[in-house]
Amino acid sequence: MVDCVVIGTGAAGVSAALTLNALKVNFLWIGNKDLSIKIRSAEKIKNFPGLHNVSGEDMKDVFLRQAQSEGIEITDGKVNGVYPTDGGYSILCGKDVYETKTLILATGVEAVKPVSGETEFLGRGVSYCAVCDGFLYKNKKIAVAIESEEELEEVKLLAQYADTVHLICIKKRVECNLDNVIVEDGRLTQIKGDMRVKSVVCGDREINVDGVFILKQAIAADSLVHGLKASGGRIEVDRSGATNLSGIFAAGDCTGRPYQYAKAVGEGNVCAYSVNAYLNSLK
Ligand SMILES: Cc1cc2nc3c(=O)[nH]c(=O)nc-3n(C[C@H](O)[C@H](O)[C@H](O)COP(=O)(O)OP(=O)(O)OC[C@H]3O[C@@H](n4cnc5c(N)ncnc54)[C@H](O)[C@@H]3O)c2cc1C
Repeated sequence: MVDCVVIGTGAAGVSAALTLNALKVNFLWIGNKDLSIKIRSAEKIKNFPGLHNVSGEDMKDVFLRQAQSEGIEITDGKVNGVYPTDGGYSILCGKDVYETKTLILATGVEAVKPVSGETEFLGRGVSYCAVCDGFLYKNKKIAVAIESEEELEEVKLLAQYADTVHLICIKKRVECNLDNVIVEDGRLTQIKGDMRVKSVVCGDREINVDGVFILKQAIAADSLVHGLKASGGRIEVDRSGATNLSGIFAAGDCTGRPYQYAKAVGEGNVCAYSVNAYLNSLK
C-alpha cells in the first residue's frame, strides 16, 4: 500500500507530485507519460510566473524535465474506478489495482459532457474501460465512443472480443480499417435500455447493442469515485483541497474555475501538504 496516489498528470498533478516528493511521501502518480493535452495545447502562455511567452509544448517539456530530474516516475494508465477499503482506497487502473491511504484527484475538467443514459447505465452496459470489461462482450454487438486517435488501441482490443463494433467519434472522425469495425457518421446522443443497455442513438439512427464503451481522456470525478460531492462537474473542496470523503483531496480544473495553470499548480501544492498532514494525523 502506498501513502498517496495522484491521479492526473496536468499542471495540478505535476505540482502535487513535486511537493509530495519533496515531503518524502511514498506516492504513485498515474496519468499520461506525455502529461496532458491541455498543457500541450496552449499556443502562447503569458500569465504563468517564471515562464513567459512559452508554448504549451515548451511548458510540458519543462514540467517533464523537472519531474524526471527529481526521479519522479509516471505510471501510464487511466483510472476507471476508486473504491473504499478498510485503510483507504483501491484504485482500479486497467487490469491493475493499487491500494492507497490517500488520493489526490487532479483529473482536469471533462471536455465532453456525459450523454443521456451514460451515468444511468454505468455498470449496466456502459463501461469506461476496454481492458477491464472487454471480455464481457465476446461475440456481442457493442458501440464504442472515442474522443481521439489515442483510444484506437483500446478499440482494436474490443474488436478482438466483439462480433461488431460501431465506432462513434465524439470529436473529429477517426478511421479504423478492421473488418468488424463500422465507423458511424453521427454523434452519440443517447443510450437507451431497461435493466441493461439495449441501444444507442447515433445521429438519426438507433443501433441495437449489448454494451457501450465510452473512451474519453477524462472521466467525470463523481463517476470515478462513488459518493464524491460535486456540482456541475466540479468537485467540492475546502481551502485545504479536502473533499467530502476522508483522505481524498482534489486540485486544478476539476475543482472549478478559473481554469488556469497557476491556480492548478497552487492547488496541487496545497493538496500535497494536506495529504502529509492527514497521514501524520493517522500515526
Ligand atoms: C488551448 C488552451 C489554452 C490555454 N491557455 C492557457 C493560458 O494561457 N494560461 C493559463 O493559465 N491556462 C491556460 N489554459 C488552461 C490550462 O491548460 C488548464 O487550466 C490546466 O492545464 C489545468 O491543469 P489540471 O492539472 O487541472 O488539468 P489538465 O491539464 O486537464 O490535466 C488533467 C490530467 O488528468 C488526466 N486524467 C484525467 N482523468 C484521468 C483518469 N481517470 N486516470 C488517469 N489520468 C486521468 C488527464 O489525462 C490529464 O493528464 C489553456 C487551456 C487550453 C485548452
